[in-house]
Amino acid sequence: MPLLQVHGLSRRFGGVVALDGLELEVRPGTVTGLIGPNGAGKSTAFQCISGVIPPDAGQVLFDGKDITGLRPDRITGAGLVRSFQIARGIPRLTVLENLLLYGPAQPGEGVAAAILRPAAMRAREEALRERAKAVAARLNLTAVLDNQAAALSGGQKKLMEIGRALMAEPRLLLLDEPVAGVNPSLAAEIATHIGTLRDEGLTVLIVEHHMDFVASLCDPVIVMAEGRRLVEGSFADVAADARVQEAYMGG
Ligand code: ADP
Ligand code: MG
Repeated sequence: MPLLQVHGLSRRFGGVVALDGLELEVRPGTVTGLIGPNGAGKSTAFQCISGVIPPDAGQVLFDGKDITGLRPDRITGAGLVRSFQIARGIPRLTVLENLLLYGPAQPGEGVAAAILRPAAMRAREEALRERAKAVAARLNLTAVLDNQAAALSGGQKKLMEIGRALMAEPRLLLLDEPVAGVNPSLAAEIATHIGTLRDEGLTVLIVEHHMDFVASLCDPVIVMAEGRRLVEGSFADVAADARVQEAYMGG
């Protein structure tokens, strides 16, 4: 069964049809690419899938369950986590502190729990800290854990952003342009990290304009145009498809 199923997803902004009955599926264990010309509706699709904006029509099923219109934090809690195009860490905090801000929410958490069960809270904090260190290690960020986020390189900021998403314990990770503005060697490094996460069992859906990155990492690739799925296949297949070439030239 697909981990994510999107059926008939539609969304307008005034007179603009951003999504027009989008169909897509993401199979578990894949890094699926979502590409298409500017204005195709990729970001709107991500926003509707992750609950940031409601669709006008259509359905989003995650692991077979209907999550359409749920609040973003509920969707995150279910294991579908979105990382943003612009790295949004808090610059003055350290990398470790930035990661700790994004631990999975626990029931009964809050002031009352902190007062009534201090030992349990301390144990949870310690577990979260260990998790943050493990996430940092997976992304080659161990050496900069105690540095301010502001002092990171552009590529490290992108990795920290992925790390913050990983803190929420995703089963499906949505990445919107993870290598925008990153030089080619760093983009290759980020691709390697994402490939490793996939090998460890994470499923990923990526919007990205860098075609070398998509070609090296994503299979399958879904091409969107005008709010719909145009074609799907291997990168080589979709790149050779006349309809795709036409969509990019028309866009
Ligand atoms: P992509 O990410 O593929 O470039 P978007 O999903 O950002 O495409 O946009 C799809 C269409 O919807 C575009 O025509 C865009 O101008 C329009 N659009 C997206 N978001 C908004 C918004 N908040 N208000 C008005 N129009 C929007
Ligand atoms: Mg976009």
